[in-house]
Amino acid sequence: MTIRTGKEFIEGLKAHPRDVWVNGERVEDVSSHPAFKGAVEQLARIYDSQHDPDLQDQLTYEVAATGQRAGMAFLPAATPADLRRRREAYRIWAEMNFGLMGRSPDFLNCTLLAFWEAREKFAEGGEKFGENVVKYYEYVRDNDLFLSHALITPQNDRSKSSSELENLHLRVVKETSEGIYMSGARALATLGPVSDELLMYNLPGLRPGDEDHAVTFAVPTDAKGLRQICREPYTTGGAESFDHPLSTRFEENDSLLIFDNVFIPWERVFCYRNVDLSNRLYIQSALRNHTAHQTNTRALVKVQFAVGLAVSIARSIKADNFLHVQQMLGECLNYVEELKSGLLRSEVEAEETLFGTVRPALAPLQTLRTRMPTIYPRIIEVLQTIGASGFMLMPTGADFAVPELQEDANLYYQGADISSLERVKLFKLAWDLAGEGFGQRLLQYERYYAGDPVRTLAMNYLNCDDTDPLRLVANALALAGEPQPRQQAD
Ligand SMILES: Cc1cc2nc3c(=O)[nH]c(=O)nc-3n(C[C@H](O)[C@H](O)[C@H](O)COP(=O)(O)OP(=O)(O)OC[C@H]3O[C@@H](n4cnc5c(N)ncnc54)[C@H](O)[C@@H]3O)c2cc1C
Repeated sequence: MTIRTGKEFIEGLKAHPRDVWVNGERVEDVSSHPAFKGAVEQLARIYDSQHDPDLQDQLTYEVAATGQRAGMAFLPAATPADLRRRREAYRIWAEMNFGLMGRSPDFLNCTLLAFWEAREKFAEGGEKFGENVVKYYEYVRDNDLFLSHALITPQNDRSKSSSELENLHLRVVKETSEGIYMSGARALATLGPVSDELLMYNLPGLRPGDEDHAVTFAVPTDAKGLRQICREPYTTGGAESFDHPLSTRFEENDSLLIFDNVFIPWERVFCYRNVDLSNRLYIQSALRNHTAHQTNTRALVKVQFAVGLAVSIARSIKADNFLHVQQMLGECLNYVEELKSGLLRSEVEAEETLFGTVRPALAPLQTLRTRMPTIYPRIIEVLQTIGASGFMLMPTGADFAVPELQEDANLYYQGADISSLERVKLFKLAWDLAGEGFGQRLLQYERYYAGDPVRTLAMNYLNCDDTDPLRLVANALALAGEPQPRQQAD
């Protein structure tokens, strides 16, 4: 196998019916259901882009061992130049959806690359687990599969560990010579309903006693006993593209995963009943070096898009004549520069791995990950502040099509040097991003997709390089010298 087309991706979904529920309805075919159709079409475009002769060399590479092409996110980087190649591929895909689709296939593809580079860490739990990781990386790479993941436990009682909450969270319930059986719930699988497989691992924080929960594995989305219940969709197929240009195309649905005795063969198990290793893997596999490189590249595109909208809205009504509006837009443009700088530094200061490959430096990427929960809501606030009541006044596309309303519609919505129709289009685009359920999810995504920002920042503190700050303080303290008796005046 080699890189897939969009058609092959969709055929794969149709060939593997899964147990997916939305709005009380069991979905027969996720590829054509209105709740998922937009995302499926965007993912298909992403797969097709790998076959575009103008993009193929930027989006794919030839795997030496197979002679076949694979997605660029799987490329083990020999030099920082390869990291830039990977970033360029992430950027091209992100620009196809304005950075609004957080879980495009490259996200988990580069996670698997990290697992592959960390195979010796997985082998600490048993030789076969390291081998399983290598084989699974190759399997997903060579079949160009689309993965989703669900790392966290559902919010039931956060004061208790998983093992204290009987029969709720995902855990191993049976073990045989062929494999293991998993039951219980897991959150939250973005694009889970339209994925080919699910990669299941844990965030750190498991406690002694949580052994049954300390399992890392992969499972096909159509596995027997695996159910997904989705949140209410923002698009149900009725909304017009003119009125909701983004949510009609780029919505990523999210689901709760429920496992009921789901069989996982041993070849797909990567860590088993090992609390200590499961807790260490998140950091020691260095997966964040890779995932944060992809997610921040995508975030940069999203920030550029949101800032571009803020600037366009301001110019459309000449609000950018006012000093405080210029100040807010200047602040937002700084965020773009901040993201660009962090990404470049992560490549310039790339780290070597045990296998002669390089990976991006983590510190600048973690900084950006923990900045986004502040940066992105602030940009949205600026956008809302500049657009003000304009967002509440826009008519629908249907109003422009009614003959009796046309004269008024064409006159009263005009902006400064912009026609009524163009201004309404612009404001609707911006409100889809800055308001609406779809826009609120995008905001919540930036707050939480990289984990709880509170604990992530605390983890930064506990793992940070504080050598230079403390050296400077030590140097300054040394200046003070020892206590001396005060000089007496004669
Ligand atoms: C739109 C969206 C898409 C997502 N997609 C995915 C996905 O595809 N895959 C995936 O695995 N995850 C996904 N996530 C989930 C994401 O990983 C979590 O939101 C994040 O890890 C925080 O966990 P939580 O939402 O359960 O919040 P909780 O952990 O329940 O936190 C709730 C509140 O309690 C506080 N709190 C809870 N526990 C503690 C503690 N021990 N110490 C201190 N404070 C605590 C938090 O600070 C927070 O204020 C997604 C989230 C969103 C919003």
